[in-house]
Amino acid sequence: MGCSVAWHLAQRGLTNIVLIEREAQLATGSTGRNAGGVRHQFSHPANIEMSIESIAMMARFEEVVGTPIDFHQDGYLFLLSKAAHVATFLKNVQLQKSHGVDVQWLSPREAQSLAPGLDVTGVKGATYCAADGVADPNGVTVGFAKGAQALGAEVVRETEVTGIRVEHNRVAEVQTSRGSIATPLVVNAAGPWAKSLGRMIGVDVPVEPERRHIFIASPPGGGSWDDAAHVGRVPGNKLLVIDFDTSFYFHREGGGLLFGMGDPDEKPGFDITVRWDFLPQVIEVAMRRLPVLADAAVSHAWAGLYEMTPDHNPIIGPSSDIEGFHTIAGFSGHGFQHAPAAGRILADVITGRDPKFDLSPFTLDRFSGRTTSAEANVV
Ligand SMILES: Cc1cc2nc3c(=O)[nH]c(=O)nc-3n(C[C@H](O)[C@H](O)[C@H](O)COP(=O)(O)OP(=O)(O)OC[C@H]3O[C@@H](n4cnc5c(N)ncnc54)[C@H](O)[C@@H]3O)c2cc1C
Repeated sequence: MGCSVAWHLAQRGLTNIVLIEREAQLATGSTGRNAGGVRHQFSHPANIEMSIESIAMMARFEEVVGTPIDFHQDGYLFLLSKAAHVATFLKNVQLQKSHGVDVQWLSPREAQSLAPGLDVTGVKGATYCAADGVADPNGVTVGFAKGAQALGAEVVRETEVTGIRVEHNRVAEVQTSRGSIATPLVVNAAGPWAKSLGRMIGVDVPVEPERRHIFIASPPGGGSWDDAAHVGRVPGNKLLVIDFDTSFYFHREGGGLLFGMGDPDEKPGFDITVRWDFLPQVIEVAMRRLPVLADAAVSHAWAGLYEMTPDHNPIIGPSSDIEGFHTIAGFSGHGFQHAPAAGRILADVITGRDPKFDLSPFTLDRFSGRTTSAEANVV
């Protein structure tokens, strides 16, 4: 998010920017730990619009930003087994189509024909969008950062923001582990840590960290899933399959197969230790949906943090309490894919342009009293 905002601001001529990163490298927070999925299949109209813009930009990333990225549009396939989910997704398909997204309702048999090796027992229906896909989080982040630097922005690493000084209800200075920077404007792009930046100036930014795991499976006996022995047992492309009822998902990743699932018992917290005792629960679902995984070896795993808001929608825009304090955080597990549009929209807001986007579902103020409209397709 930080790199996207910096690039879009620099494009608009605002180049006096310092991007501050605590770690030694960019993209080592949530962004460096995600599955790379990009999809149009959301339940909230604002998220569908963010996807349309972001995916279009990723498709032309090298031309627009100047760095090549790994990007595949092999589709997303949602499998639905509960009647209630079928009803919701049938409605969502209509909504997505009304935004111009080409999404299809499929029978279990049609779903299976797209994903060799898939077991569709109990599946009542599926949705498929061929323009969804998988992209490269590190490439996108570093691409935006390099592009912003080329226009004059500064990127400082191994530097922690420790405080923000406010004068007369206005941002005046950012304090860091390496000194202070006088500035009238701060963008809080701290992902799962966004709440702590808000706390520095008494602004409640309701973002909670939640651990999510990713496991990588190698084929039985080693080698690659592309080997002739596995043809017909796993998808031959990077199609991303989601068993929506359990949140189990998988896609091909290099020679391996990436899979993950949310743990309904996970409590908010910053711990990203891999909980190997959770793996048997995932494997049980995994073997049911993709039986070849019963013989596979889990070669490695990692965990990262989702950045959850109460309604699973992001916060984009200014604080109405402290002038000059903007937030772009809380994307609730779908922030990598929305970074291109979100960065553009915030850069427009900051530079006084019309973002041509209704930001009301994403304002920080929405949490104070009013009911909010939630995003339901969180995986
Ligand atoms: C397992 C997993 C799978 C996911 N899969 C997908 C997916 O398929 N598609 C998708 O779109 N999204 C996915 N996500 C979500 C996605 O990763 C996040 O929504 C997105 O990366 C958020 O980006 P960000 O820039 O807001 O946060 P981050 O990438 O976490 O960046 C915030 C940065 O702020 C820095 N920082 C924090 N505090 C300070 C401080 N005080 N001083 C200096 N620096 C600080 C951190 O070091 C970090 O680098 C997944 C997440 C996980 C964990």
